[in-house]
Formats: sequence, structure tokens, C-alpha cells
Amino acid sequence: MPFRCTKPTPDPVATLAYRPWELAIEPFQLSPQTWYVSGQTWVGAYLIDTGDGCILIDTAIPESLAMLVESIMKLGYRLTDIRKILLSHAHFDHCGAAEQLRRMCGAELWMSREDWEFYRNVPEETLVLDKDSHPQDFAADHFYQDDRPIELGNIRIRTMLTPGHTIGCTSFFWEEKNPADGKTYTLGMHGGVGANTMNDRYYSTSKWLTPALRDRFLADEEKLTALHVDIALPSHPNQIEIVDRAGTYTNENNIYCDETVWADFIRERVRQVRALM
Ligand SMILES: [Zn+2]
Repeated sequence: MPFRCTKPTPDPVATLAYRPWELAIEPFQLSPQTWYVSGQTWVGAYLIDTGDGCILIDTAIPESLAMLVESIMKLGYRLTDIRKILLSHAHFDHCGAAEQLRRMCGAELWMSREDWEFYRNVPEETLVLDKDSHPQDFAADHFYQDDRPIELGNIRIRTMLTPGHTIGCTSFFWEEKNPADGKTYTLGMHGGVGANTMNDRYYSTSKWLTPALRDRFLADEEKLTALHVDIALPSHPNQIEIVDRAGTYTNENNIYCDETVWADFIRERVRQVRALM
């Protein structure tokens, strides 16, 4: 499947709050150990079974928390199987349900120090999209250190600070071994690429983000596209149409890998940011 992206959902919080079935999706497997579990098609959340508990990347919003919980339980996991919650960045759509979920499962909460400070100092810039939404305050248990992978079971997640969309936006990379043939695959998830916070109009009102962050995002293009990623995961499914892949993973011999998607995705997002300059 070639790389492609689609338009985002207009007014997604209202849709999830009042017509959730319009965005609902069953959980689906992406690789031997990773599943798409947000329960909705607007914001992604990924569950990784490490063999010794699970790691969850992002929690989506409070309005869709029940969909996320249902997805995880449908796969046969208990919430207490989640040992670590990793947040990609401090925007409400990715971390809005973090506190409620943490209370339900007792997991450690991880994020970048940069976005933690962003969240504490300018909560009004965390993009709460709907005045009726119900974000709850949370505190990070651990901050990422890019030279120290996060380890659980047989998974080691390497974090990479990838500023631009927010000051502490963080991307994740990890390897999984195919139990059928012993081959190793690299999965990568970019933490945030939205140009909505990388343009002069946004900078003119922001108390915290500056054009220097956009410069850094553009400068990182070469470094990021040089990375080898077999399975590229988006923070929003529309950025890389992975929803099309739901149901296509049926066994270890049928893994969707395309090492061209990651670099095409990064180049396309850089193009979108440049187009607004
Ligand atoms: Zn965001």
C-alpha cells in the first residue's frame, strides 16, 4: 500500500462526545506485538505486549476513553496489564484521558520534561478543542531520556525528542521479532507533525512556541528520513492511512512492512509546514 493521507475529521470531540459510532473502530493488530486500540479513528493509541505487561502509547481524549478500554479488553487484556503509559506530546487529544486511565490501571506515566513544562505553564495551549471536554490534571512519573531506552519484557523503546508541533514532542522506535521466522522489524511512531502549531499565525498568539521550533522540525528532516522503519505509525490515523490495514494482519507470516512509508511521511509533513511559510 503506498503512502497516503486523508483529511482530518471536522469537530472530532463533539463527534466523539455525541456520535461516537461515527468514529468507532475495532482494535486491530499491526505487528507481532502491537495493536491499534484507541477505539476511534481520529487519534491513535497503540498497545504493545512486551511479554511482561503492556506499554500503551497515548490515551486520546476522555470522551473516547470507554472505547479505548473496550478495545484493550476485547483483545483479552486487563487494564492492570498496562504497566507504562507513554505520551507523545502535551496536546489534549493525545493525553486528555491520561489521568483517568492511570487511576484505572495504576501504570507509570511518561512524557518529555519539555512538554511537561509546556503543559504546566500554558495549559491554554494544549488544544482542548471543545469547552465541554473533561481533561483532568496529571503529573508525570518519569521524563524521557533519549539515551536511556524504556524497557519492559522483550521490548526496548527508544525515545527521540522531535520538537516542532510542541516543544517536547517525542517519537518512539522499537524492534519486534517475528516468532515465525526470527526476523526483526522496526516500528516507529512520530509524536506529532501537525502544521497547525507550526505557522506564523499560531506563533503570533502563542506564549510558548516560537519559529525556532519550526526551524528545528525542518532541520530534523534529514536525520529522521535516514532512519530505517519497517512499520510507520502515525499519531493520527489520517496522517498515514493505517486504518485501511485493519484486519489485514492475520498471522506472523503476513506482516505489513513497507520501509518507504516512513521517509515519504516525514517529507510530506515537512512539505506541508513549508507550504504555510
Ligand atoms: Zn498535537
